Amino acid sequence: MSLSSSVWAQYNPLTLGIVIPEQDTVEYAFSRYRVAAHTDPNAQAFINGKQVQVYSSGAFVDMVFPTEQITPIEFMVVLDGDTVNQTRYLVKPSSSQKASSELVELRSKAPTKKWFIQPNGDPMNPDQWYGPGDVIPILVQATPGKQLIYSIPGQHTHIVMNERSPGIYESYHKVDPYDPMFEGNIEFSLKGRWLKRSKATSSERVKMGGLPKIGVVNTSDAYLNIGLGSDRLGGAKYGSIFEGVELDIVGEQSGLYKVALSPSLHAWIPTRFVDVKESFELPTQSLSGNIRIVASKENSHLSQGSDVIMVSLPKRLPYIVHTELDPNRIVVDIFGATSNTNWKILLDEATGIDEVRWSQIEDGRLRLYIDLTHKRHWGYDVEYGWRAQMRIIVKYPPVIEDALKPLKNRIIAVDAGHGGRNNGALGSTGVMEKDVALAISKKLEELLVEAGANVVMTRTDDSYLYMSERAEIIRTNKAELMVSIHANSIGYATDPREMKGTGSFYKHMAYKPLAEIMYDKMRELGLDDYGLTGSFNFSLNAPTDFPNVLVETAFLSNPEEEIFLLDPYYQRRMAQQIVEGLEEYYTQYAWWPNEELEADK
Ligand SMILES: [Zn+2]
Repeated sequence: MSLSSSVWAQYNPLTLGIVIPEQDTVEYAFSRYRVAAHTDPNAQAFINGKQVQVYSSGAFVDMVFPTEQITPIEFMVVLDGDTVNQTRYLVKPSSSQKASSELVELRSKAPTKKWFIQPNGDPMNPDQWYGPGDVIPILVQATPGKQLIYSIPGQHTHIVMNERSPGIYESYHKVDPYDPMFEGNIEFSLKGRWLKRSKATSSERVKMGGLPKIGVVNTSDAYLNIGLGSDRLGGAKYGSIFEGVELDIVGEQSGLYKVALSPSLHAWIPTRFVDVKESFELPTQSLSGNIRIVASKENSHLSQGSDVIMVSLPKRLPYIVHTELDPNRIVVDIFGATSNTNWKILLDEATGIDEVRWSQIEDGRLRLYIDLTHKRHWGYDVEYGWRAQMRIIVKYPPVIEDALKPLKNRIIAVDAGHGGRNNGALGSTGVMEKDVALAISKKLEELLVEAGANVVMTRTDDSYLYMSERAEIIRTNKAELMVSIHANSIGYATDPREMKGTGSFYKHMAYKPLAEIMYDKMRELGLDDYGLTGSFNFSLNAPTDFPNVLVETAFLSNPEEEIFLLDPYYQRRMAQQIVEGLEEYYTQYAWWPNEELEADK
């Protein structure tokens, strides 16, 4: 069956295309489930006997509420005496049933020496290293109704675990900073009513406390995560971290090293990004160095020109950067650095920088405030140059060449979301987000060219691209700014008729104004407000070196908005609004020629 069979004709037989559920039988655990299908726009549609609205696109949707172990969903469409039926099934996952039957089995055998011990329950990552303050979840399966005690050898801990459900014992062990270092297996002892005892040890070794190890970032793609958590877009990130930076590693969990940045701040980094030095060295916190700042105007590898702030450090220290608005500012925290009176600040040359200040905000955490003269941020990069010279490159806004055509000769990247095997969201008619995004992006390209811009397209056909490839295309073509085009969708448990509207997303505060303008422009089309979302963890919102925005044009899962998204006229209207938004952004925030002369003096 073809999902794109949304083309109908009077002469063709009556069609019924089911988009959700995707297969004849789908496992689904929750109590609300959305269904989506399409037929002839003139047909009548029924889901489980209830008539539902058929939209002009032929789409029809509804919610079903699975209560049984197996819930049938009967689709029926009727037109001029023709009827087409299809039934699909939702099946509750059987895992809960399976777990309880396993327990019954355990009880009937009454094992006293059978242990299932999983200190972290993550057999894919057996190497766990917990630092002070970390909490170790301990989950043990054992004979029900007994007393189960865990202990850590050498630490005099004998803690009775809680029997959460029959045969499942749990506890949480917090690593105390004053505990002696431990590396080995957790010990368990089970006590019965007649003082019968059995003992076991965890199958996994656990490490607690100990001295930090020094790790060196081994790739140019590395980044620091804020926590251990992850979502479909990956864990939230502090930002990228340059190759060669030395990190104090104090823990390891689930494929991530825990990095001590300062006494009060930790970050996480995937273990593959780091080479751990075997030899013992003093942690970076104990080092201090002379710091020197020189700002100079540089036009080297950036088409727009930039200022560079150089900070000489004793070694490649870790850092976190964030941006602020009004006043526009870049704030760089350098960890392991202690301020030194030997400061030299030369800002005469740097026309884009108003002032650089610093403060030692805590032990081993030096903060630089870089105040910009620009009306808006236009990108920055932090890198290490020769040895341990930190270079903070602050881009100038581009210069407008033609007041009537603010986008003339500007280089703008347009990213059509998804592509190839990555279909993105599905509309009820079977239309795929990747195709809608490409159609709008191509119209955007056309209109931008008309407006005088040079356009960098990340894709112009149905090809699959990694996010890193998209970023590479944007950078090698020296794009000054990027707009990524998507169409939104809800999950399975939400009524698709209830959720609609346009949204704009950004990650860094610096680029909020761009997202705001795009959001306002899209709303002028009469689309509902889905919202302006910051700190968004989309990889093309991560770059700091060019302004970027993700535009979720409208909801493909909403049958009314799907009609707009399918319509070439509305696709063009959306592209038109984005062009107007860009013209407004450049007019307000790029440099005007006389302004630049002013700044050059
Ligand atoms: Zn998308």
